[in-house]
Amino acid sequence: MAAMKWWGWGLDGVEFTHDDKPDLAPFIERVLGIQVGLPTAAPVRFEDLPVPQPDLPDGLRRALEEAVGPDAVSADRLDRVVHARGKSLRDLILQRRGSLTRIPDVVVRPASEHQVSAVMRTALEHDAVLIPFGGGSSISGSLEAPGDETRPVISVDMARLDRLLDIDAPSRLARVQAGVSGPDLEAQLATRGYTLGHFPDSFPHSTLGGWIATRSSGMQSDRYGDIADLTKGLRVVTPSGTLVTRPVPATSTGPSVRQMVLGSEGRLGIITEATVEVRQLPEKRVILGYLFPTFAAGLAAMRALAESECSVSVTRVSDARETQFSFATRKTPTIVDRLQSRALREFLVRRLGFDVEAMALSFIGYEGSEAHVTRERKAVGRIVKAHGGLCIGSGPGALYDQKKFDTPYIRDFLLDRGVAGDVSETAMPWSLLAPVYDAVIAAGERAFADLGVMGYLMCHLSHSYHAGACLYFTFAFTPTPGGDILAEYDVVKSAIQQTFVDNGATLSHHHAVGTEHARWLGQDISQPGVEMLRALFDGTDPGRHLNPGKIV
Ligand SMILES: Cc1cc2nc3c(=O)[nH]c(=O)nc-3n(C[C@H](O)[C@H](O)[C@H](O)COP(=O)(O)OP(=O)(O)OC[C@H]3O[C@@H](n4cnc5c(N)ncnc54)[C@H](O)[C@@H]3O)c2cc1C
Repeated sequence: MAAMKWWGWGLDGVEFTHDDKPDLAPFIERVLGIQVGLPTAAPVRFEDLPVPQPDLPDGLRRALEEAVGPDAVSADRLDRVVHARGKSLRDLILQRRGSLTRIPDVVVRPASEHQVSAVMRTALEHDAVLIPFGGGSSISGSLEAPGDETRPVISVDMARLDRLLDIDAPSRLARVQAGVSGPDLEAQLATRGYTLGHFPDSFPHSTLGGWIATRSSGMQSDRYGDIADLTKGLRVVTPSGTLVTRPVPATSTGPSVRQMVLGSEGRLGIITEATVEVRQLPEKRVILGYLFPTFAAGLAAMRALAESECSVSVTRVSDARETQFSFATRKTPTIVDRLQSRALREFLVRRLGFDVEAMALSFIGYEGSEAHVTRERKAVGRIVKAHGGLCIGSGPGALYDQKKFDTPYIRDFLLDRGVAGDVSETAMPWSLLAPVYDAVIAAGERAFADLGVMGYLMCHLSHSYHAGACLYFTFAFTPTPGGDILAEYDVVKSAIQQTFVDNGATLSHHHAVGTEHARWLGQDISQPGVEMLRALFDGTDPGRHLNPGKIV
């Protein structure tokens, strides 16, 4: 997997553009009050970055070279800067400014579990800090060393542990090395006819180990489960040896050690291998678009779907604001597209009585045999109809499926124009969905008003469960002229996060805690819960050599 840009999302040369989306510039100008024509705020040049000299004593360097080989030890400036942070908005703003704090002194690239163990021993012997690095896509500040860290900092890049080792076909279990990226994993599984079915939006630039260490969730989680469901067995190099959990379907061996590693963000050890549940590649896969008269109707339909016997792969419904945004990102329409959308609009307004400003765009995904997909589409169609919704076919779903991995580039596009854009996501029981949504929208709007800025806050439901769902909020605002963008971002982000925990929702459904969300942990899992985690981390890693400062 190629390294991402040091200052932004994805690969060099790949960017989000509004050129082929004629409605986007007017939309952004209307809601954020900026002219999108030309970028106004470029990142500093790499040559001008004040990259500090590495703190890498000769003895430590030699020991690391013995552990992984000289070619796999790098103190290169770019390598160290790329591994310094993840891709949270704060990370992006600081990197773009050239504000480097405690960057790693060295990057090592082990190629086996044996080498990971040797790196662990070396770090303990030399009193150095280890930060496991998967794809570097963390959005919650899970990768940066504490600013006041005085010990040498080693970033352990897992990219060379990238192989599918074995498939236990009767059990549908795959043994996989933890550094494998999403695309590499799916390509290796596909040659054997399988899929993991885990497709987070960060899929091209994230890894199996990172997913496990952050309790990630992918778009098709309604069918396949979250990574916590998919991960059955683990191998983890810890300060006291290699921890192994068996890939059994269920076990009664006390509190689950497997669950303790899930979401541990590198604080308990380095995950080298996981045994994950895989499924045969589906014969058919389709995502259909639907429109509901309102977001409330869409939410009610998703709840009814979760309660029904239907088994779909994707459930997603956007509020009216996000629906307007999605329409604004449509590519230049053909004459046929224009005629079709005019006819659809007429039908929605005149025949169904929709208010186009209030309607909610939804996607529902189906996977499995032809017969299964046909049966499910019919059953879902009845539920959608009962909630006033309408199927608009597979075209919008196919488009959404294609462009979902491009969307992450939009935060850089906005930052290039001086605008802050970010996300906050949560989960709650179905009964709390509407109150949490209303409270968050009110809190976000209040934050924009208090700051005196133009902002836009939108939401969609993703990931439905029997007892509840995930709500995913996206926001953007134009900072005050000459204002501190990070301080203003904190006001908006905190207002949203605080509203989650004040209203019975969790601080994050799948983006993890890191440093960004740590201040809400006690309100989410209670103070004794925080103390239990602290005891777990301190007991496993008394010298605090493993990614210190994250989670608690
Ligand atoms: C634009 C964007 C979209 C995103 N979309 C989604 C999404 O749809 N769903 C979702 O769940 N998340 C999403 N994320 C968040 C992020 O991609 C996930 O947290 C992902 O799981 C991180 O994987 P990674 O390999 O990049 O890990 P990294 O970012 O490299 O690391 C994340 C944490 O895991 C630890 N870690 C990494 N590898 C190991 C290992 N082998 N052993 C022990 N610890 C390890 C690191 O030390 C760090 O604490 C998104 C992020 C961005 C920026």
